[in-house]
Amino acid sequence: MPTIYLDHISATPLLPQGLEAMLPYLKECFGNPSSLHGPAVVAREAIEAARVQAATLIGASAREIVFTASATEANNLALRGVASALQKRGNHIVTSSVEHVSVLGPLDVLEKEGFEVTRLPVDSMGRVDPGAVASSFKKTTILLSIQHANPEVGTVQSLEQIAAVTKPRGVLFHADATATAGVLPIDVERLGVDLLTFSAQSVYGPKGAAALYVRRGTRLHPILQGGGQEGGRRPGTENVPAIVGFGVAADIAREEREERTAHLARLGGVLMEGMIARVSGFMPTGSRNDRLPGHVSGCIEGAEGEALTVLLRDEGIIATTDTACASGNLRGSHVLTAMGIDPALARTSIVMTVGRGTSDADVEEVLERMPVLVQRLRDALPVGPA
Ligand code: PMP
Repeated sequence: MPTIYLDHISATPLLPQGLEAMLPYLKECFGNPSSLHGPAVVAREAIEAARVQAATLIGASAREIVFTASATEANNLALRGVASALQKRGNHIVTSSVEHVSVLGPLDVLEKEGFEVTRLPVDSMGRVDPGAVASSFKKTTILLSIQHANPEVGTVQSLEQIAAVTKPRGVLFHADATATAGVLPIDVERLGVDLLTFSAQSVYGPKGAAALYVRRGTRLHPILQGGGQEGGRRPGTENVPAIVGFGVAADIAREEREERTAHLARLGGVLMEGMIARVSGFMPTGSRNDRLPGHVSGCIEGAEGEALTVLLRDEGIIATTDTACASGNLRGSHVLTAMGIDPALARTSIVMTVGRGTSDADVEEVLERMPVLVQRLRDALPVGPA
């Protein structure tokens, strides 16, 4: 049975061009990029070429890119790195209550270490109010971290408006763009951010490479101690093959972005409208207007989410209840809770994200099967109170 993969928010398939470009660095070009001999120079040059490609995707210059092993690491580096570098200036950090755990986690630790953290509420669509950001700032505020889009409900934040209130206060602005890079146009100058996280596995590149954009002149301490790689900001031998694959994927994402976005927006729209029309009790979550193209999320009254994804999987359809990172978290989704969604309803959450390879026929098949599976589930497993 062919699989219909609708979990592109968690990982995208590796592009064949990326794999081809990576292979020599998994085989003969194994030199350590920090050594001085010939094979090392080949590896170093490959990293520098990928740095230009990654920088170009977000309108940055190559020297503003720090490669990391994951978006989680890039988020940790941004938050802990700035906190450490600016702690003499202030100890207050502002974020939202719907950030990814790789932002909220390091902030919990910083709070225990003496930093003050404000977690701004969101509205029922998951939106952060730029006015609330402005009024949260104090003399001691050094950093703001707000995601570009939420992976669970697809809501896109108005980073430009948020930057407009942040810049005059001299507060550094970090954005987690893991969900948006390669899908929405990103220009760090236009967005007005000082630090930005993005990842290879979200742009049809490999696992094991991500990047933190650090605006020139931004003070940031390394969070690991060791060698001088990545300008001393991220010590440790670079994952050369993954970085090479990231560079190629970033290049292709830039070249085909408009076409990709249009495809995702169209198919996502068909899937969302189809869910609303054909699945009784389906209630979309997140913003309808400011939404990640290709992202469909909602709650289905009376149909427990985990059970539904198992039924879907048995029919060759891959969907999730939230994102990979939150699965298995028995406390439920902090994102849906922050949006004021009732815990019992939150247990019926489903997330489907289409990709560049998803077809009209795939979406139609999902829409045909979904009402039948939901009914089967409701008959077998009614959802009780939380
Ligand atoms: N930020 C966001 C918005 C994410 O969706 C994810 C998960 N894909 C991450 C950060 C962390 O990514 P990773 O698990 O690859 O480090």
